[in-house]
Amino acid sequence: MIISVGGLHQGRTSVASDERPDELGFEKGEIEFLEPIHVAADVTRMGFDVYVDCTVTTSVELACSRCLETFEHDLKIRSKMLFVPARQGQKSNTAQEGVYLYREHVDLAAPIGEAIREELPMKPLCKAYCLGLCPNCGKNRNESDCGCEEKDGSYHPFKDMSL
Ligand SMILES: [Zn+2]
Ligand SMILES: [Zn+2]
Repeated sequence: MIISVGGLHQGRTSVASDERPDELGFEKGEIEFLEPIHVAADVTRMGFDVYVDCTVTTSVELACSRCLETFEHDLKIRSKMLFVPARQGQKSNTAQEGVYLYREHVDLAAPIGEAIREELPMKPLCKAYCLGLCPNCGKNRNESDCGCEEKDGSYHPFKDMSL
């Protein structure tokens, strides 16, 4: 989403659009988006500073880190950023704790891409109590009990304790 600051009146403007993953800096196949990346933003211009309060909603496909099954994960991210005009010699798009520099246009693509990446779980889980794969036979233990003996105690940490 690119906003021309010259065309922006003082005060608040609401804008919304659907963005494509590549517009936000995602490589092809990096993240599987199941829905359009919808961006709704309140853009407030104060002098030449532009304050953006935006909500990004979409849905991505993730692979569970325990059972490896893919599942749908809804994202709703609220992100706030301030754009200030870049001075001569300053590189635009240098982020400093939510502060970005701009020249003529405010480009939300990089900050939104960043916000999505930050929001994705490091170890995705299809459900909080995913049982994962059997370390012995490799079957998905969410689907059926494979009947294998537990070889190590890590899965039932209190098994051998007399409580
Ligand atoms: Zn799982
Ligand atoms: Zn098994």
